[in-house]
Amino acid sequence: MLAVPPSDKALVPFVSVENMMRLVHHIGIERMLAGLADYIEEDFRRWELFDKVPRVASHSAEGVIELMPTSDGEVYGFKYVNGHPKNTREGLQTVTAFGLLADVGNGYPVLLSEMTVLTALRTAATSAMVARHLAPRGADTMAMIGNGAQAEFQSLAMKSICGVEAVRLWDIDPAATQKTARNLAGMGLEVVKCASAEESMEGAQIITTCTADKQYATILSDNMVGAGVHINAIGGDCPGKTELAPGVLHRSDIFVEYPEQTRIEGEIQQLSPDHPVTQMWEVINGTKQGRTSAGQITLFDSVGFAIEDFSALRYIREHIGGTDHYQELDLLADPDDPRDLFGMLQRAGPD
Ligand code: NAD
Repeated sequence: MLAVPPSDKALVPFVSVENMMRLVHHIGIERMLAGLADYIEEDFRRWELFDKVPRVASHSAEGVIELMPTSDGEVYGFKYVNGHPKNTREGLQTVTAFGLLADVGNGYPVLLSEMTVLTALRTAATSAMVARHLAPRGADTMAMIGNGAQAEFQSLAMKSICGVEAVRLWDIDPAATQKTARNLAGMGLEVVKCASAEESMEGAQIITTCTADKQYATILSDNMVGAGVHINAIGGDCPGKTELAPGVLHRSDIFVEYPEQTRIEGEIQQLSPDHPVTQMWEVINGTKQGRTSAGQITLFDSVGFAIEDFSALRYIREHIGGTDHYQELDLLADPDDPRDLFGMLQRAGPD
């Protein structure tokens, strides 16, 4: 028990998993996905302002732990995130995360938040924001290959942001497909459970691959992909972990977040280092072209970049005000006399 209660001067708002879920329900998931997509697009427009660096990854045989930092000069942010495909077999999440925003002016944290739920939301919002620019006009059907933790978020974001009306589900584990179909029931999407990846792609203009396997997997082979589709490739996001056959990449126009990171982690790690790619921020600000013809295959080689997490945390910070969906955390030592840290510790000693 502390003899002196902590000062309340430097309490940091903290959004727990429980409060994040409350906030999502308070705002409404589709409205929140659309809002996140707008925040992410806004930050892509001012891309050049940000500090950018490929994420710092610590790889092991079983997975990866990563730090993803960035700053727009006024606010600094980072996310801690893991990726462990074997985790679900042990009843654990493949991906878990938390993140922080801080004031660049004094370095004090201004928000700490869970980011496991928020990463699923921001990944889906980014996918749909990109598809809004690249998918063929009138796209209304999506193949959803890989029906794990991200699948419902991806489906709902494509519905609310791109007008997708039907999702065609495929997973090697039928229980995962059952779970996704059950969760999406009554949410305004036509949901079709398919018996193969090929079947899931019938009539789909958008193909999302969102599987987890720590290897060069072939979720889409060259002969499976027809002209004119948009591929939203989510699961290939680590060295040695990809989803698409090289032939698919050679037939596609490839769009990326941050090439320096994607060349290490994305599908394009399978291509030569000078293979041309287009950065999404340049499509968004109009300096580069997105889809130019109906027959073109566009591929978003998504790996997830720090600016998307920054945008998501910025959204949370601007939407928790006036709600009780956060706690105040005594995270920072903040003595009345800033040089008397020791005195503060001493005064907190036993009576
Ligand atoms: P998850 O483990 O919950 O789900 C993955 C699903 O893929 C499982 O249901 C599994 O049965 C299925 N699967 C594995 N191999 C398959 C195959 N050959 N064909 C069909 N289905 C197959 O994982 P998750 O949290 O949904 O994440 C999915 C992937 O997305 C992971 O690889 C993760 O690292 C990645 N991810 C990327 C981003 C990004 O920004 N790009 C963000 C979050 C997650």
